[in-house]
Amino acid sequence: MRIIATVAIALTALVSCALAQPDPNWIAHDRNRPLPPVVEPATPSTQEQPGKAPSDAVVLFDGKDLSQWVSANDGSPTRWIVKDGYMECVRGSGYIRTLQNFGDCQLHIEWATPAKVEGDGQGRGNSGVFFGNGRYEVQVLDSYNNPTYADGSAGSIYCQYPPTVNASRKPGEWQWYDIVYTAPRFDASGKLTSPARMTVFHNGVLIQNNVELTGPTGWLERAPYSAHPEKQPISLQDHGNPVRFRNIWLRELGKPGKKEFNLPHKLLDGYVGTYLRNPDNRNDVIEIARAGDGLTATLGGVKFVLFAESPTRFFAKTTDVQIEFVPAADGKVNELKWSVGEGANPAKRIK
Ligand code: MG
Repeated sequence: MRIIATVAIALTALVSCALAQPDPNWIAHDRNRPLPPVVEPATPSTQEQPGKAPSDAVVLFDGKDLSQWVSANDGSPTRWIVKDGYMECVRGSGYIRTLQNFGDCQLHIEWATPAKVEGDGQGRGNSGVFFGNGRYEVQVLDSYNNPTYADGSAGSIYCQYPPTVNASRKPGEWQWYDIVYTAPRFDASGKLTSPARMTVFHNGVLIQNNVELTGPTGWLERAPYSAHPEKQPISLQDHGNPVRFRNIWLRELGKPGKKEFNLPHKLLDGYVGTYLRNPDNRNDVIEIARAGDGLTATLGGVKFVLFAESPTRFFAKTTDVQIEFVPAADGKVNELKWSVGEGANPAKRIK
C-alpha cells in the first residue's frame, strides 16, 4: 500500500512539474499584479509581401542582408545569396547558423521550395530549421504531391514525429512555420532533466503539439541526448536544393538574461594564448583556449567555460568571472581585462 502511495505521489509530482501552474504569489484577480507588456503584433504575410515582425521580436532576416547568419562550420561568412528580399541556399555552401544563441523561443520563418520541380522524395526542396546548433530539425521539404517517409515530410521533427497533417502549399509558393521551442535542460553532471519540446504551425495549421524530442534528430537513428548549453544557434540546412527563406523573426521566452553568441572561430583563435596576471610571477597566468565554438579560461588552476556576450566580452556561468579582450589599433589582441566578482585587472599576453 505504501509503495502504491509513494508511486502516486511521485506521479503527481511529475505531472505538476510538467504542467504550468498559476503563480501562488498572486491571488485571483489580484489588482496589484503587473499588467503584461504591450507589444505591437505581427502583420500577416502575403505571397507578394512579407509581413512585419512584432515589436518585441529579434529580427533575424528582413530581406536585406545576412549580417546575423554565418557558415555553421566555423562562423565565417556564408556563400548563401540574398536576392529580391529573400535568402537562398547555394548547393555545397554548407549549413548556416545565427551568430546569436537562443534558448526557449517562438520562431517565425517563411520558406519556398523551388518552383521548378526537380528530384523526388527527400531530394525535392529539402532544407531544415534546426534548434540547438544543428541538433533538432523541423524538416523543410516540398511535400506537395511528393510522397516520402512520414517522419521526413515537411513539418516533421525529423526521424521522430511526422506532422499530424500535410498543410503544404505548391512549390514556389511562400509558406511559413511558427515554432515554439523549449530547449532541453541538463544538470551539472550532464544528465538530462527535461527534454526538448516543440510546437509547430505550418501555414497556420497546428502540425506538432508540444512533442517531446527523444534526442537529436538524424538520419537512420534516434541518438540519445548529450548535454549542451541552453542557448544555441538556430541553423538552416544546405541539403543541395535552392530553398528560399524570408521574414525570419524570433521572440525569446523565459527569463531575460545576457545575450550569448557563438563567434567566428577566426576571431576566437585570435584570443587564444597565455596572459600574465601578475607581472612579478611568470607562473601566475590566465590560459585562454578554444573548445568547439567557444573559449575556456584557466585561472588559479580552475578551468571555466566562457560565454560570449559581445565580440570582445565573455563571462562564465558557475563563477562571476568576466573577461574582456582589448584589441590594439592593428586589431591584434595582446591584452585582456579580467575580474572575478569585482574590479577589472589588466593581463598582458606573453604567448
Ligand atoms: Mg532537411
